[in-house]
Amino acid sequence: MLENGWFREENESWNGQSLSLQVDKVLYVGKTMFQDVLVFRSTNYGNVLVLDGVIQATERDEFAYQEMICHLPLMSHPNPKRVLVVGGGDGGCLREVVKHAGVETIEMVEIDQTVVDLAKRFLPNMACAFDNPRVTLHIADGFEFLANNQSKYDVIISDTSDPEGPAEKLFEESYFQLLSDALAPGGIVAMQASENVWLKLDILKSLQERCKNVFPTVNYATVCVPTYTSGQLGMMICAKDPQTNLQAPAAKKHIPEDVRYYNEGIHRASFVLPTFAKKYINN
Ligand code: SAM
Repeated sequence: MLENGWFREENESWNGQSLSLQVDKVLYVGKTMFQDVLVFRSTNYGNVLVLDGVIQATERDEFAYQEMICHLPLMSHPNPKRVLVVGGGDGGCLREVVKHAGVETIEMVEIDQTVVDLAKRFLPNMACAFDNPRVTLHIADGFEFLANNQSKYDVIISDTSDPEGPAEKLFEESYFQLLSDALAPGGIVAMQASENVWLKLDILKSLQERCKNVFPTVNYATVCVPTYTSGQLGMMICAKDPQTNLQAPAAKKHIPEDVRYYNEGIHRASFVLPTFAKKYINN
């Protein structure tokens, strides 16, 4: 995937197309117990984290995804106090969650300590909240953690890699049931939906159906991120209570000042799908 000074992201899931980034310098190449890891400095997207050949984050555009997967559920919930992040080893979600002063405890369960260590070293603007006193990091498998969990959370953010390797079971219905069981009344889950509207609508539709088998309220939200395949990624936002309105901030909520992508308009607009996608997913 590294050739002639370029990184090329090839994967069966998006067969026949690939994104390439020019490489200034390879910073780290290794293999952990769970995945292949590559970190490189790119010519115009800053440092880039790649797991199992798939781009996870670039310093230039990561804020769009991190803000949306965190602030959509945190702003829709009237008063979130206990938050769980599953995955998220780069630290970007923690950085966003700590911006909510009313959140009292933030637990994160990440399977791979190496990702956390590398993020602290090479992605310091993302990995800046691990030392926050409200944060507790568990190094464990997210599925196992939730299967043994007794706690209840107001918001759970499932910031996982794609459904291959260690994250595969984090896209199964049994995992969604564990998420639902771990939610307090009025609780909201936001999960990385892996697919976008351009590539595999059938997979997106089936993911939404599996979510609907568990949660009474399920909405798909989109975010523009140039370095994710096709430039768009989505999140399933699910609520335990059928009355929860996920598509707008709750009344009297204060938007964190230092956001760069999220605003009230984009919160509402992120749930609006182009006609072809809306028809396919909802039929
Ligand atoms: N935004 C990213 C994306 O989709 O491209 C996801 C970023 S974050 C780096 C994904 C994290 O999920 C990784 O650090 C990976 O180690 C973690 N992960 C994968 N499977 C996991 C599991 N079963 N339990 C907990 N964490 C997991």
